[in-house]
Amino acid sequence: MSQPPTASTSKTDQKTGFLRVAIPSPLRRLFDYLPPSGHHASDILSGTRVEVPFGYRQLVGIVISIETKTDIEPDKLKPAIRILDCQPLIPASVIELCQWAAKYYHHSLGDTLIQAIPKNLRQGKDASTHRIRHWQLYSSSDKTPEALSKQAKKQAQALQYITEKSTPVTEIDLQEAGFSKSILKQLEEKGHIEALLLESCQPHFTSIEQVIKSPSLSLNEEQLYALEAITDGLDQFRSYLLEGVTGSGKTEVYLQVIEAALKQGQQTLVLIPEIGLTPQTLKRFRDRFAVPVACLHSGLNDNERLQGWLEASRATAGILIATRSGIFTPIPNLGLIIVDEEHDSSYKQQDSLRYNARDLAIYRAKQANCPIVLGSATPSLETISNARQGRYTQLHLKQRAGRSKPPTIELLDVRQQPLQEGLSSHLIEHIGAHLGRGNQVMVFLNRRGYAPSMICHDCGSTIDCPHCDAHMTLHRQPPHMHCHHCDYQINIPWACPQCQSRKLQPAGQGTERTEQILSSVFPGYPVLRVDRDSTRKKAAFGKMLDQIQTGKPCLLLGTQMLAKGHHFPNVTLVAILNADSGLFSADFRGLEKTGQLIMQVAGRAGRAEKPGHVIIQTHNPTHPSLQLLALNDYSRFVDSLFVERKQLNLPPQGFLA
Ligand code: ADP
Ligand code: ZN
Ligand code: ZN
Repeated sequence: MSQPPTASTSKTDQKTGFLRVAIPSPLRRLFDYLPPSGHHASDILSGTRVEVPFGYRQLVGIVISIETKTDIEPDKLKPAIRILDCQPLIPASVIELCQWAAKYYHHSLGDTLIQAIPKNLRQGKDASTHRIRHWQLYSSSDKTPEALSKQAKKQAQALQYITEKSTPVTEIDLQEAGFSKSILKQLEEKGHIEALLLESCQPHFTSIEQVIKSPSLSLNEEQLYALEAITDGLDQFRSYLLEGVTGSGKTEVYLQVIEAALKQGQQTLVLIPEIGLTPQTLKRFRDRFAVPVACLHSGLNDNERLQGWLEASRATAGILIATRSGIFTPIPNLGLIIVDEEHDSSYKQQDSLRYNARDLAIYRAKQANCPIVLGSATPSLETISNARQGRYTQLHLKQRAGRSKPPTIELLDVRQQPLQEGLSSHLIEHIGAHLGRGNQVMVFLNRRGYAPSMICHDCGSTIDCPHCDAHMTLHRQPPHMHCHHCDYQINIPWACPQCQSRKLQPAGQGTERTEQILSSVFPGYPVLRVDRDSTRKKAAFGKMLDQIQTGKPCLLLGTQMLAKGHHFPNVTLVAILNADSGLFSADFRGLEKTGQLIMQVAGRAGRAEKPGHVIIQTHNPTHPSLQLLALNDYSRFVDSLFVERKQLNLPPQGFLA
């Protein structure tokens, strides 16, 4: 960010002073304004929002500082229109974080700051009186709960719940108690209850005496060692790598470290991957702690996001669970940061402001002088490298917690084997056997759509995206061709564009196609497909998770969405269909990512008492990396990658611009 040069011709105006404002624009500089009429600059605080004229538009900017000198001719300076906050909305620490990010990632400060606040506030909405939806009994209702039909059990329970409270209940409380929006809506339509918008009046989290709601588990030796290592240094900056195999109880360690931070009156920021925040995760935190747990993720609407942001920034919430953009949330009593699944690529924002939330989290921990815990079963090479060089303290959880054992991993050589739509007969047999014993089976295929390409049987040409030269994926639900790189979409062509032949055929397997074959081979079992297409609707994923949690035998088929952090106790077999596609990737991180994915997917098997089995179908059973992964030995796999990176001088051994 370049500030206007301080020339010797600076004009001074002692009477008013100027506001130096960051404005959402790609221009990498700040802009000076006179205070709005009737205001003194000295009364205005940095970090407040201000509405200013900018060209022909009016924009919401952030006051960065109050200055007495400017290079602009005073008569050319425009007054700001109005100040939007009486208290700073963004504290100095977050401004500083944004300044650092803007500089490090070459982005304008204005754009960086404005993406750090929720959309409602960007648009200038009032932050001081945020009101949220509450429900109460309909005041002029003559209806009694008995008037509800016997079928409407859930509605009756909700009504009972609201009746028992003497004050209006927030919708969030009701949802947590298990009453969905649609239940409330039905009760409203029947005239039992009414909604009203009230200011939330939660107390500061430190005024809650008991931080724990339900007792914590007693830790095993490794967990205890990790917990003590981290809690010993709660009042200083230090980075920890908590490397624990899947199911080793990392989350339990987080929970107990958070408990210690809360007891010291400090808030925790928990970063989780984009799709890692399932209702179960949130429930686990909310069940454990008596203090409010706020959350920020892409599944929320604008009001809910504002709500989460305000709870964290006003310290009514003791814990903020957030996906990557949450890293910019003001957290006044920040005393601990946890980055779960730190290797996950969703921490990287790939457009507009490009940043890695994990790296910003380290900066932020340093700034707040508090510990940061990076947790993963499969840490990134960068993080392992930092740990090996002593910059991070390394903590290991090598055993699965509780009674579960690590899964056995089998490399299934499919060379010269007949494949039925990508499934070998050996695999089909195994799937049938596990289902027959009443267990759940997970089939993993990292390609959504019906088939990754369409090929002409007569001339061999494929349907490619005109913008990126990549094959276009064939989708059947709904039917279209889709470029997964740039999102370009077309109708399915009825003839080959090159030779006009009608013999265009799907080539390869996508999840839609595999769903079809699984359903026909195992007609007696439900096949739940989990990918970005099948879960586009907000509640769809949650519904599928609920069905999985019933524990009844079924087939789960999915992309990497299935690999992340879920705890499915009844899954005993995990099949990986196309592990090979990742072995020879053009991206130098391709093999690292493939290895992480395989370990994560394998970690879904046998999470409870039942032992887990993993079958990896491959045409390269002798591939050295695959063999190390089959030994369940991530650390030797990583060593082999380090050797390769060193030879090629690639990060983290070298730097790439
Ligand atoms: P991770 O986050 O490493 O995948 P979790 O914390 O989710 O692991 O733990 C996996 C399972 O083991 C959970 O069901 C959890 O309740 C259980 N668990 C964790 N720690 C313990 C412990 N010390 N004793 C008994 N069970 C535990
Ligand atoms: Zn053709
Ligand atoms: Zn494209």
